[in-house]
Amino acid sequence: MTQHKYDYDYFVIGGGSGGVRSARIAAGHGAKVGLAEGKYLGGTCVNVGCVPKKLFAYASDYHAMFEDAKGYGWSAEKPTFDWHTLIQNKDNEINRLNGIYQNMLENSGVEVFKEFATFIDDHTLQVGDQKITADKILIAVGGEPRRPDYEGAEHAIVSDDAFYLETLPKSVVIEGAGYIAVEFAHIFHGMGVETTIIYRKNTILNGFDIDIREFLTAEMEKQGINILLETNITKIGDNNGQKIVQTDKNGEILCDLVFSAIGRVPNVEKLGLSKTDVQHKENGQIIVNDRYQTNIDHIYAVGDVTNRVNLTPVAIAEGHWLADHLFKQSEGRKIVGYNDIPTAVFSNPNIATVGLTEEQARKQGHEIDIYKSNFKPMRHTLSGRDERALMKLIVDKKTDRVLGVHMCGADSPEIMQGIGIAMQCGATKADFDRTIGIHPTSAEEFVTMRTPVKA
Ligand code: FAD
Ligand code: NDP
Repeated sequence: MTQHKYDYDYFVIGGGSGGVRSARIAAGHGAKVGLAEGKYLGGTCVNVGCVPKKLFAYASDYHAMFEDAKGYGWSAEKPTFDWHTLIQNKDNEINRLNGIYQNMLENSGVEVFKEFATFIDDHTLQVGDQKITADKILIAVGGEPRRPDYEGAEHAIVSDDAFYLETLPKSVVIEGAGYIAVEFAHIFHGMGVETTIIYRKNTILNGFDIDIREFLTAEMEKQGINILLETNITKIGDNNGQKIVQTDKNGEILCDLVFSAIGRVPNVEKLGLSKTDVQHKENGQIIVNDRYQTNIDHIYAVGDVTNRVNLTPVAIAEGHWLADHLFKQSEGRKIVGYNDIPTAVFSNPNIATVGLTEEQARKQGHEIDIYKSNFKPMRHTLSGRDERALMKLIVDKKTDRVLGVHMCGADSPEIMQGIGIAMQCGATKADFDRTIGIHPTSAEEFVTMRTPVKA
């Protein structure tokens, strides 16, 4: 398939979730494919994102499990936690995954360059000490943590650093209340770290359903996580390692570690965008059409660098679709759908959601019925833990279509994946109602809620 004018049919910049999938699929369709990855194969998700984060969350979950086991008759000496063991085992697992990614790419015929790639012009890249030309180029360079800019911001870590801390702090202040802040609040708190969240607005997890946000806030506070709302950090000082966090509303807080989790920005620093005419926003976000094409016909972008839905399965779906679209002779797969994308926050308890929030449903003009179930999960009848679960269904009154499904409770991400399929099939409340439950589970509540709550 090679256009002899160029070294490659398709050159992918970035070996993360979107880039790896796109490169492999394109090579499978017979294209000559190269891929440059400057840091680590697998990208953010594998190295400093989803995977190590989930391993940390599992580590943290054990704390409560040890305590809960007592009510079921188990006794053991007081368990202790060793941070270094976790880091070592996590690093081994990540190394294993890096190797798998390398093999996967090589076995599918992709040529891998462990170098950063920089544009020289619209068809030419500098990759290490080589100049490489390509007929089509995919930008899949992902994102990186946004850093705060107040005085002393250099004393705060960001998520990339959190996976390599030499010691576990005794106390942490986490700035922000999005996915990363809330997940790491659980991680640190479960490991016995005194944890404080500082958030600028009045309820954590902006964008999620309000009942879920308030419910999780209450659960976290019950556990002892300190949540300071409508508060901003104004300065961080450092006194021999101890951090002094100054805020505009809650005075000064002393802690061992400040973790800033205030969003992510496109990672275009090494890309040399000024050497191309590719349109991008000021923060580097590459502008693409609904086929991931930039304003330069042969240059494409997928994943976090386009800053739309910044989730691994979305980057993968986009990269896959694009490779099919460009290199499969027959019509490509149906275009990636952005409605009803299920997502989870690995907090404690977990949050999972698919579809519209109550606020979105109302804003879109739906007349809605709301069903809610707030209950004590069966596990905690004997464990004695004061933990509850919340489930919520949002249903269009006229069509009976389920518009949104939300849960805060153990295993909610595992439950929501299946509900995501039902949503893709256009499930109605009547479909939920005629589904037989699996008993005894928490999940069965989703098919047994019969009476709408007062809106
Ligand atoms: P990335 O995976 O970021 O890959 C981009 C790659 O490009 C990187 O490896 C980078 O080194 C490389 N690169 C950059 N510039 C160049 C260059 N010039 N030349 C060569 N290579 C370059 N998503 C979920 O769905 N579930 C989760 O649980 C989840 N947890 C997360 C937890 C954390 C802490 C973070 C930070 C993110 C998490 N995400 C999660 C989001 C997810 O990691 C991203 O959406 C996903 O990795 C985006 O994939 P991508 O291919 O766009 O970019
Ligand atoms: P989020 O966008 O989720 O949250 C950012 C948080 O920082 C928000 O609370 C935001 O407040 C706050 N914030 C933003 N700017 C400032 C500022 N200048 N000063 C103070 N606070 C600020 O970003 P994250 O960094 O948590 O995560 C990045 C993305 O990675 C997520 O959006 C998600 O797409 C992905 N991710 C997915 C995960 C998953 O699937 N489980 C886990 C982790 C990350 P406000 O609400 O007011 O804007």
